Amino acid sequence: MIGLLNHKQHDPNNRGLLFRGKNARTRAYNYMRSRSLKTKYELSAAYLENGEVFVFKEKGNDFKTSHNHFVKKDVNIYADVNGRLVRVTGLVHTHPFVHGNLTPDNPLSLSESDFKLASDFAQTIDIIVIKSSNGVGAGVYRVSTSGNGLVYPQLIFNF
Ligand SMILES: [Zn+2]
Repeated sequence: MIGLLNHKQHDPNNRGLLFRGKNARTRAYNYMRSRSLKTKYELSAAYLENGEVFVFKEKGNDFKTSHNHFVKKDVNIYADVNGRLVRVTGLVHTHPFVHGNLTPDNPLSLSESDFKLASDFAQTIDIIVIKSSNGVGAGVYRVSTSGNGLVYPQLIFNF
């Protein structure tokens, strides 16, 4: 039997990667950052209601896009974690390069689809900044979107 969580068997292109247990978020953030640095692609992950973090497979991701492999059912959003549907409570994805204008509107270069995604999660989305040309430091930012293009980033994790 092939263990999906076994690192040797991990295939980031075709499978998701689950982080569970102690410091799941910290470990997921560090993984996503180093993976994104290496590939120069975005990586996207779901916060699960049980505290786990599921990093989605990378297939089709590029410098400015990442795919969220959701299952929408009734009013809820789920991730298919190796055959098990788990409710998603929030999202985080990397931005390999941030160049937005620091003042005043969109310092983390949120895209239109980021705004759409945030609207499914109480207007909130987390962004992992990898590099920037506008002085925004590497870190994880919780972003509240106003719906009219303004964003309010708050640093929640420092690398
Ligand atoms: Zn984005």
